[in-house]
Amino acid sequence: MSKKKLGLNTICAHVGEIKDEQFKGAVSPIYLASSYEFLDVDVKRYPRYFNTPNQEYLAKKVAALEHTETAMIFGSGMAAISHMFLAFLKAGDHIVVQNTLYGGTSNFIQEEFPKLNIDFTFTDGYDVKDFENAIKPNTKLIHIETPSNPLLTITNIEAVAKLARSKNIVTSIDNTFASPINQNPADFGIDLIMHSATKYFGGHSDICAGAVAGSKEHMEKIWNVSKNLGGSLSDLTVWMLERSMKTMGLRVKKQTKNARKMAKWLEAQKFIKKVYYPGLKSHPQYELAKKQMKGFGAMLSFELVDGLDSVKFQKALKLIKASMSLAGLESTVLNPAKTSHALLSQEKRDIIGISDGLIRFSVGIEAPSDLKADIEQAVNQL
Ligand code: PLP
Repeated sequence: MSKKKLGLNTICAHVGEIKDEQFKGAVSPIYLASSYEFLDVDVKRYPRYFNTPNQEYLAKKVAALEHTETAMIFGSGMAAISHMFLAFLKAGDHIVVQNTLYGGTSNFIQEEFPKLNIDFTFTDGYDVKDFENAIKPNTKLIHIETPSNPLLTITNIEAVAKLARSKNIVTSIDNTFASPINQNPADFGIDLIMHSATKYFGGHSDICAGAVAGSKEHMEKIWNVSKNLGGSLSDLTVWMLERSMKTMGLRVKKQTKNARKMAKWLEAQKFIKKVYYPGLKSHPQYELAKKQMKGFGAMLSFELVDGLDSVKFQKALKLIKASMSLAGLESTVLNPAKTSHALLSQEKRDIIGISDGLIRFSVGIEAPSDLKADIEQAVNQL
């Protein structure tokens, strides 16, 4: 049976299951061994080699969802990003990085790459021209994030992939915000697709994990570096992640539907200054998002009108939690300027458009009527 032809929920539920031949249990057994038979150098299983049975099999589900040959599971999204970057960059190399992206990624680059003598350029914008302008003769990797955290900007995946291929540059994407349910960058020519699996893969705000998917050739490069760096995930958590991923299609589709409703509703409210959501016709890249995404995702951001305090607003919410992470099945909000992007300078935040009052909204599975009522009662308290 071809995995590509399986339905999305069938992939989520079944691909990468470990059959319990011994007891015929309905779910994958957990293999907790940290030591496996070692008789021949070619056959070595070890947790830090990313190839215990649970790691190896869950990677098959990720690869099937991302339409790639293979994948690897990591201990966090940052482990996935850092191991991936370090597999393709060495001293003297250069990376082009999209300017609007997760704060932790920009931080990693700015703090660690100078120590390693790896050169980097943050693009001026997220248009393909901005990427082209940033390329140097020693550019080895282009990294994009779309939709981006937290402003939901949309980068033309196919155009960037094409530009990079024409110059023999490897491409990577942070696909966390869309999830494979809403976007498959490999179909548009991107080489490496990474996720903070802490987000939609886990989906219940109780797992920290990461994943990278790509071709066997590229993933072998990542494996060679990763086994030295050691950022693998414990098998207990791999098993929990498999369990969570079985419902990823159901969760993300419902959350995406809710987000679209909430974005439209918010846009019509007097207390709202601006809503950032790629599924709104007012979004500058709505047509592009429609072309490259299967759904517009469940993340949005908004600004309250001047005079309404965003911190007081968050505190006044009763159902929607103010929360650091995102993509759980419960709705959460966060103020990026005070939290996830607080390490960026005010100047950098101003350049990329993260205002002090911006609120990032991760829409969950609740009834939209309850979410609207919660927001209304919070605004009425201000
Ligand atoms: N990428 C994005 C878009 C994120 O939002 C995050 C975390 O918030 C990460 C990567 C890092 O993932 P982790 O926290 O699992 O290391």
